[in-house]
Amino acid sequence: MKFLFDSKEFGAQYHYEGKDLGAVYGKEQTTFKVWAPTAKAIELCTYPDGAQGACLQKYPMEKQEHGVWSVCVEGDLEGTYYTYRINIDGKIRETQDIYGKACGVNGSRSMVVDLKKTDPAGWQEDFFDRKGQTAPAIYELHIKDFSSDPCSGITKEHRGKYLAFTETDTTLNGQGKTVTCLSYLKQLGISHIHLLPTFDFASVDESKPLDDQFNWGYDPENYNVPEGGYATDAADGHVRIREFKQMVQSIHNAGMGVIMDVVYNHTYKADSAFQKTVPDYYYRIWEDGTWSDGSCCGNDTASERYMFRKFMIESVCYWAEEYHIDGFRFDLMGLHDVETMNEIRKALDMLPGGRDILMYGEPWRGKETAMRKGSIPALKKNVAELDQRIAIFNDDTRDAIKGSVFLEKDAGYINGNEELGIQIPSCVLAWCDGKGEYMPKNPGQIITYVSAHDNFTLWDKLNFTLLDEPEFYQRKEEVLQLNRMAAGMVMTSLGTPFFQAGEEFGRTKNGIGDSYATESAINQLDWKRAEEYGDLVEYYKGLLTIRKHFRALTTKEREILERFSFMDTNLQETVAFHIQGIEAEGDWWKELFVIYHNMEQKKEMELPEGSWELLCDGKSCVPGGLEPCRNTIILNEKSVMILGKK
Ligand code: CA
Repeated sequence: MKFLFDSKEFGAQYHYEGKDLGAVYGKEQTTFKVWAPTAKAIELCTYPDGAQGACLQKYPMEKQEHGVWSVCVEGDLEGTYYTYRINIDGKIRETQDIYGKACGVNGSRSMVVDLKKTDPAGWQEDFFDRKGQTAPAIYELHIKDFSSDPCSGITKEHRGKYLAFTETDTTLNGQGKTVTCLSYLKQLGISHIHLLPTFDFASVDESKPLDDQFNWGYDPENYNVPEGGYATDAADGHVRIREFKQMVQSIHNAGMGVIMDVVYNHTYKADSAFQKTVPDYYYRIWEDGTWSDGSCCGNDTASERYMFRKFMIESVCYWAEEYHIDGFRFDLMGLHDVETMNEIRKALDMLPGGRDILMYGEPWRGKETAMRKGSIPALKKNVAELDQRIAIFNDDTRDAIKGSVFLEKDAGYINGNEELGIQIPSCVLAWCDGKGEYMPKNPGQIITYVSAHDNFTLWDKLNFTLLDEPEFYQRKEEVLQLNRMAAGMVMTSLGTPFFQAGEEFGRTKNGIGDSYATESAINQLDWKRAEEYGDLVEYYKGLLTIRKHFRALTTKEREILERFSFMDTNLQETVAFHIQGIEAEGDWWKELFVIYHNMEQKKEMELPEGSWELLCDGKSCVPGGLEPCRNTIILNEKSVMILGKK
């Protein structure tokens, strides 16, 4: 029989609503269930090891309703590795469980796990005040980059691992002076750490020494299992789970939330566990039989298909519940349909504290995709179709401030293309003014940023545009000045601010943009710079403090736009605006006056009436006030000036 996956008949007969797929562990017995409507027969195979050795035992599975195959095995199977041998049209292929919660080294065998056994001490009490984060600020970090640097102060065996996050009170070279790693992040003023892929990915060989291997990890293997390369032991399926939880617990104890970068849009290879289990169901295929490749990674998963949508929803909720994850960043969200994204939002909302779990994603895709007709892709132009608590990365703001991410010499407003001044008020208003070709429902739908792991670091981009011969490792005042200006603009704009780890100390990757598999030495955070560029770090801290104490900047509701009024200026030279505060609890000022002065010369400007405190003069940012001013102010060259009124 031919299966027409998108037909009503297929849906009626085979869509499975149960939430018990995978191995459901019990001390007396474990039940295995696989959804595989096209299979002729399936055997469960158990193994004593995650990679080595022959099958211990085979158990034929029974076909039940809705295409689900099941077997119940008596006894305590905790720690037993397993696979399924799936017979489709006489061809037998062996695969791990797509719903597997644990796995062996390199993930080709799943493992039965008693998750309670993986909880670190105190896990039941683990807590992060999601609701209390009134001024969210997101820090984008790769686990290995965080602590690979030998100067990081982290013990050697934890460098590049989950456990690096459990070390507190670390300092540069252990000298007790400049704090590093988690202690550093704790005092920076961010609310959430966004981790680059941490689910099990395939591009690092966990069975080989990991020191010389590096990858960002956008190549999913097992969605519901942590990556093994960051664990101290990848072979024992328990270790990565326990250490991941220890990491989360430690970040929570430091007062920050944890966001996962999730990559449901494609799998590492087309011949994945999904494809072996139900061939061609989970992927998009063009009518001529060629595979859709909107991800530019060889395949696109089909979020609009019932069982993949279900998989995504359950997977996200699983991470939120089991691992206490506080937010999700969706890679190439434009490849997913808005219905799936909104369903995920609804499912998260049902969890305790779930309404305050963040959701955001990239509202674009690599190429066209074969999404089923009638589905709406979660692209930027469709932002209004997304739930108002799903946000998108705003590439318009990113590129308007400092130039295209694709062309190294292309300039933005601050570094040579003053004509983009016309777009800057829209950047400030998180594009809720309707001047883009899309209409966010509110500032809460926008991630405001100028740097991320993709493309050049802000420091490198500014070097390329300012200097004929970039000197990435030199401290250059003109680069610093524009770094401060870019950050000042992001932090005084609506939307949720986001920045790549180390942007605040002039992180360089020596001019390399696409460093996804470049050596660790180029990618890792250079903790010496946290000291060398300590003045820049202080400047970022000041900006983050202002946001915390002036809630009009962090309000997600659309009405807040009415409190922003722009002065009549030549936008190429100066953008100036007044913000009437909402006088929220904890606010330090009633009003702010912000000026982006984009000229190489100083200039005098009239101030709105009253007595003002200068909080930021483009060189330093001191929320307690640098000096009082009245009537006029001298604008520093290439600066963001911020004034507050009590
Ligand atoms: Ca892996």
